[in-house]
Amino acid sequence: MKREEVFNFSAGPSVLPVEVLETAGKEILNYGGSGMSVMEMSHRSKVFQEIFDSTKAKLKAALSVPDTHEVLFLQGGASLQFSMIPMNLMGELGTGKADYAVTGNFSSTAAKEGKKYGTVNIAASSEDRGHTYIPAQQELKLDPDAKYFYYCANNTIYGTEWKYVPETGSVPICCDMSSNILSMPIDISKYGIIFAGAQKNMAPAGLTVVIIDKSLAGHEMSCTPLMMSYQRMIDKDSMFNTPPCWNIYILGLVLDWLEKQGGVAGMQKIKHEKAQLLYDYLDNSKLFKACAEKEARSDMNVTFRTGSDEMDAEFCKGASARGFTNVKGHRAVGGMRASIYNAQPIEGVRALVDYMKEFEVAHV
Ligand SMILES: *Cc1c(COP(=O)(O)O)cnc(C)c1O
Repeated sequence: MKREEVFNFSAGPSVLPVEVLETAGKEILNYGGSGMSVMEMSHRSKVFQEIFDSTKAKLKAALSVPDTHEVLFLQGGASLQFSMIPMNLMGELGTGKADYAVTGNFSSTAAKEGKKYGTVNIAASSEDRGHTYIPAQQELKLDPDAKYFYYCANNTIYGTEWKYVPETGSVPICCDMSSNILSMPIDISKYGIIFAGAQKNMAPAGLTVVIIDKSLAGHEMSCTPLMMSYQRMIDKDSMFNTPPCWNIYILGLVLDWLEKQGGVAGMQKIKHEKAQLLYDYLDNSKLFKACAEKEARSDMNVTFRTGSDEMDAEFCKGASARGFTNVKGHRAVGGMRASIYNAQPIEGVRALVDYMKEFEVAHV
């Protein structure tokens, strides 16, 4: 298939802006007159340092990161943060406790990982209704002595999204924003740690962005691996070892593109408009139903089903044939999922809705 014939709804790694890929393509053999690719240059070189510094500055500007917080460019995926957070924040091994809200498989894995290092209190769980909703503030069972409160802002697999930032008093909040970072403004000062794997809304897989309140670093367990100490990474400006150079460069290009879309405030309008196209159709459809409860619906991952596994499979097969790739739901939940991250053009969403209408007419 030609690129023009495909609308890629992959949940991750996912679509990147064409403009970004074109620029990267133009610069792939010779970046900025350096005579080499960004993939080939020393991470200690002046030319790469400029890429690094400007990407970091652009990210700080895009998200209005206050001076209390540091931006880190790490590796190990979002999943390594499931271990890094307890190792750095729980105090010595086995002595600390933390609150976790479990609203999907990623937060569930994070909570299980946390248990290896201290006591995990499940502050709330949406498992009773198949992770189709987000617990309300008054449902959170918070421990004022917890070292931190952990939640996942957007549940990529179930298609639910927190619409509020939990109030936790003086307990710092750690938040997995892998699948909705850069899709809206956020008040960074409310968070202790925000982290995100880059491959959903930022850059290729291999980069993890961490935004951390600097006062939380420096208290890691004595057994913490060097590579997993926030303090060390802060002290070395993410260059204790070789950072994911290429991904950082692509993130810089994505941030330039984002600015042209009106930054995160502009993106918030666009992403909501895209999601609403799908939800409005789903709410009026006689065939398809949205999986997530209305108040909890994600603007990034729209999950839906027909009610029949056979028909879902037929829909997905037809979708692929028409160039709507990766609309099959996650294997844990079945059904369909349209991931409509920042780089998914609204035309892609309109075209998918048209196909859904066509499919409905043929099957009702
Ligand atoms: C994709 C994803 C992860 C896992 O990311 P990796 O980089 O593969 O470890 C974690 N949390 C959320 C919300 C995700 O969407």
